[in-house]
Amino acid sequence: MVVASGAFALLIGAVFILLVFAIREQRDSARRAIRAQEAISAGNKLEKLAIDLETGVRGYVASGARPVFLQPYTAARQAYTGQGRELTSLVNDNPKAAGTVAKIRSSIDDYVNLYSIPMISLARDRIDVAKSVIVNGTGPQRIQAIRSQFQQLFDSERALANKRTSQASSRANAAVVIGIAGLVIGLGAVFLLALYLARSIVRPVRDVAAGAESVSQGDLSARAPDERSDELGDLGRAFNTMAASLEQSRDEVAARTAELERSNAELDQFAAVTSHDLKEPLQTVTVFAGLLDRDYRDRLDDSGKTFLDSILAGTDRMRTLIRDLLEYSRVGHGELQCEEVPADEMLERARDNLAARIAEKGASLTSDPLPTVSADAKQLSQVFQNLLSNALKFSDDEAPEVHVSANLFPGEWRFSVRDNGIGIDPSQAERIFQPFARLGAAKEGTGIGLAICQKIVEHHGGRIWVESRPAAGSVFHFTIPDSGATEGQQPETAPAGVGA
Ligand code: ADP
Repeated sequence: MVVASGAFALLIGAVFILLVFAIREQRDSARRAIRAQEAISAGNKLEKLAIDLETGVRGYVASGARPVFLQPYTAARQAYTGQGRELTSLVNDNPKAAGTVAKIRSSIDDYVNLYSIPMISLARDRIDVAKSVIVNGTGPQRIQAIRSQFQQLFDSERALANKRTSQASSRANAAVVIGIAGLVIGLGAVFLLALYLARSIVRPVRDVAAGAESVSQGDLSARAPDERSDELGDLGRAFNTMAASLEQSRDEVAARTAELERSNAELDQFAAVTSHDLKEPLQTVTVFAGLLDRDYRDRLDDSGKTFLDSILAGTDRMRTLIRDLLEYSRVGHGELQCEEVPADEMLERARDNLAARIAEKGASLTSDPLPTVSADAKQLSQVFQNLLSNALKFSDDEAPEVHVSANLFPGEWRFSVRDNGIGIDPSQAERIFQPFARLGAAKEGTGIGLAICQKIVEHHGGRIWVESRPAAGSVFHFTIPDSGATEGQQPETAPAGVGA
């Protein structure tokens, strides 16, 4: 491209110089042709003066030397030297004509000095003799000779003028031709440049853009041409490297996801099998501990009774743990039974299940109108139940006040369960969603409720997180994608918060 631009600039420069040269030549030739015409006209004037000299002398003699007839002669004699000088200056660019003019001027001088002056003084003195001399005198021959020299001069100057005129017109033609050639070269170069741009720049850039479009639509196998060694080749290679690394990352992510799914499934399987298998020995221990309690408690001393109570409490806790573990491993297995469910009804179901606890705690439970969402009814009511149960469980001395609301954000509904309980240290806000994670203050529970909520919400394509501070109550938020089933709501524009 750089070489082509250089060659083009040189070519245009050469055309421009030639054009200037041709125009100058044309102007000089035209000027010289005009000068030759001016020389001819100055020659004509000089020739007329020479004729005036002759006719003046003749008229003077013929009139019997009357001074008035000498006037044309006198005027011509005064003027011819100056006219001769002008003619000389006009032909100084033509040596041949300059020679002829020199001859003419000396012939006129000779005519004046050697012929006319003696003839006039002879006429003054002896008019008769002068009259007879003038008839046979050399005056006419001299003038004739001068006129034929003029003829030569005019022929030569005319030829010169013609030559210069045709030179000027051929230079003008050359200028036009050079101008047109320049224009054609310019247009050709513009066309070639456009072609070059289209082929070498626009097309590769379009290829990269098409590749980027394909990549953005998910086809990571798209590649751009990268054979060139210039910047566009660099662009193509950079794009290909990016697409290849994206493709590799996607494959790695897919492989890791598959691996994760497999190990999760194995874990769930393991949890299910283990908890199931643990049930039987636990049952044996529970039965025998129960028998021991019923038939042998009276015979045990105080320490024995304490040990027995610990065994009974341990088996109870073990049973709860196994039940929750089974529950956790069951959630997320199999396809979701999604349907359009009114969240109000799901909350109501949870409230019914917790009616005894609510009454026992003297809790007040309020809610805004909730939307209809596409969800698995049983699992959605389980989420409400776990969150409500925690709000009741982790209350302080005051009667629990729980409020449930829902807001529409772009593409999703955000449900919020607010309580006035003991609150949570923000540094623990993520940990509490892990299975079996319980905070120091928790006296009851196995730490599996929120882990189940997270599993359910994420299976529905949503997120769950908590906003809380110790002794300031907690707000648990979770989102469910908007199915559009609830109309007449405008989405809020605030960001939808951070997922747990
Ligand atoms: P559990 O099933 O034992 O209730 P969760 O997984 O539901 O366990 O909760 C984990 C821990 O998070 C609880 O032990 C408690 O410390 C804390 N927590 C959960 N909900 C609340 C709440 N509403 N207020 C204060 N702490 C809470």
